[in-house]
Amino acid sequence: MTTTHCPYCALQCAMHLEPDPEGRPRVRPADFPTNRGGLCRKGWTSAEVLDAPDRLTTPLVRASRDEEFTPVDWDTALDHVAGGMRRLGSEHGPDAVAVFGSGGLTNEKAYLLGKFARLALGTSRIDYNGRFCMSAAATAGRRAFGLDRGLPFPLSDLGGADVVLLAGANPAETMPPMMGHLTAPRLVVVDPRRTATAEHARTSGGLHLAPRPGTDLALALALLHVVHAEGWDDSDYVAARTTGFDRVWPHAAGWWPERAEHLTGVPAGDIRRAARMLGTASRAYVLTGRGTEQHSDGSDSVSAWINLALALGLPGQPGSGYGCITGQGNGQGGREHGQKADQLPGYRRIDDPDARARVADAWGVDAETLPGAGPSATEMLNALGSADGARGLWLVGSNPVVSAPDAGRVRERLAALDLLVVSDFVLSESAALAHVVLPVAQWAEETGTLTNLEGRVVRRRKAVEAPAGVRTDLEVLHALAGRLGQPPERFPADPDTALAELASVTGGAAADYSGVGPHRLDSGEELYWPAPAGGAPTPRVFLDSFAHPDGRARFVPVEHTPPAETRDDTYPLVATTGRLMGHYQTGAQTRRVAELAEAEPEARVEVHPDTARHHGLAAGGLARVSSRRGSVLARVRLSPGIRRDTVFLPFHYGGEAAANNLTNPALDPVSRMPEFKVSAVRLEPADAG
Ligand code: SF4
Repeated sequence: MTTTHCPYCALQCAMHLEPDPEGRPRVRPADFPTNRGGLCRKGWTSAEVLDAPDRLTTPLVRASRDEEFTPVDWDTALDHVAGGMRRLGSEHGPDAVAVFGSGGLTNEKAYLLGKFARLALGTSRIDYNGRFCMSAAATAGRRAFGLDRGLPFPLSDLGGADVVLLAGANPAETMPPMMGHLTAPRLVVVDPRRTATAEHARTSGGLHLAPRPGTDLALALALLHVVHAEGWDDSDYVAARTTGFDRVWPHAAGWWPERAEHLTGVPAGDIRRAARMLGTASRAYVLTGRGTEQHSDGSDSVSAWINLALALGLPGQPGSGYGCITGQGNGQGGREHGQKADQLPGYRRIDDPDARARVADAWGVDAETLPGAGPSATEMLNALGSADGARGLWLVGSNPVVSAPDAGRVRERLAALDLLVVSDFVLSESAALAHVVLPVAQWAEETGTLTNLEGRVVRRRKAVEAPAGVRTDLEVLHALAGRLGQPPERFPADPDTALAELASVTGGAAADYSGVGPHRLDSGEELYWPAPAGGAPTPRVFLDSFAHPDGRARFVPVEHTPPAETRDDTYPLVATTGRLMGHYQTGAQTRRVAELAEAEPEARVEVHPDTARHHGLAAGGLARVSSRRGSVLARVRLSPGIRRDTVFLPFHYGGEAAANNLTNPALDPVSRMPEFKVSAVRLEPADAG
């Protein structure tokens, strides 16, 4: 029996894998602080992914997309990739090849992928799908606290709260075992849909606030307005532990509840009730998720919630706090170790001369040879194959033709590349466009570490051998780097050797992993970063001070701005996107699990019954949802709990069912987060006849 962690979300539930009579792994839940012996249906069925019937076990190569793939041996495939990368680099310069990583990669892979881009390719063009997921909260967290750690406290702390406000998060469906921690007598859920979490709040003494998509920031300002006007803010805390409230209050002063009701659609009485719940609680938390973060003002939206939390005196107080609920399995670690365009390992800024010198020294190169910051994920993808973009791309563990905004455009850009290399375990929608596909090992077939939503480092352990013909991502990095002239020891294929290097390189950095090692993890020690060598790990990071030089948190002045695109006569509804209980990310894994595929076999569009009637749609019929960028074919599901001006689509499906055919690539100016949550759309029946 092997104890490891679920391959999917950031809760990183622990599980035992034990062989069934045929020797294949069978999942049993393990007792662990995040899941306490529970798993959701994705976790229970996760072993089935390993035996996906269309699993790739040999590299595939073709000269052009007009040709069929040819199965080849690994040396042929790697020579082809290295030769193509070298040719593009010498003809067009080092930025001719881009790398796109994933928040699902282990810390070791994320670290070595960033190192590969900067040393083996010399390219500045590396970013990852976490840009679509965590960037707004990370930016706001750094602005306020000087440090971004999703939850700066253990999940179990939530159990002692009187009130928890969840802004744009639906854990009852996306990470059900987390609900075991949300036992506060009152939950306040902010979501334009009556999700399972919102329904739970509504029926258990809490509140569901359903703002128009794109108005969360104004709602947060209105809550701050009431809290301050009623004297429920913690003036001693604000004076002792923060700066900048005087600059923020003028932005909230004008948002009295009736004005906020006019914009957000949330009744003024509910705004006052929510403010009272928070303002009179002894212990409270404000938590944000993608619903409030994936906007073209996502950083400011999160700052507005943090401002509210600071006024209430929550962050850094025992039993209270602010946190962001990370989504992807390694959403936290994935952004700390150098696969992000603007960062070096340890959460160091790539434009910080000291950080560059420290990392360059550890890597044995001159700091001047390290590339600077490259474009963000959306900008990088949208420029591919153009005069301003890369001509080659390596996708590692990511499927952007389903996950990126304006997915139709991304499809076109990938098809314009001279060289597209995809590492994946099946022929995903993105891999189907590739010149070279490299079949790689899956979660239970390899070892590595991930960092969960609490900043807790967990150890994924190998339980089974990968199928013959499959290699690990670290083995691929090692082999490719060697072909590109790198000394072999610079890219270790062994995960523990890679972890030791990562730990050493991050010593003294914000995300200090220098005390993280297999022995401590295997002994059952709870390791949260910062985890300095020889020092104690840090489950709660802000109890004594925040990470700004003066130790104080910052209020950040923010103001409501409309979404980049608003409703009009042609596109009279707003589409918002999100997840279903049965699927994860682009569904490349979960759509291949029979139980999950049967439960959620096709894309759906959730529509209020009145809206459906108005548009001539019936429950179970097909609808075409169209925006200025593309359209989606989806099955109509009537939902009395969604706003009449809003429709919801899950983003787990590809092709004509891809919700991101609709979404707007407008970017948050600071974090470069795209506006996934607000697209103006129209709706029409699509049933034949
Ligand atoms: Fe736990 Fe998330 Fe896996 Fe479900 S998907 S079992 S909530 S880690």
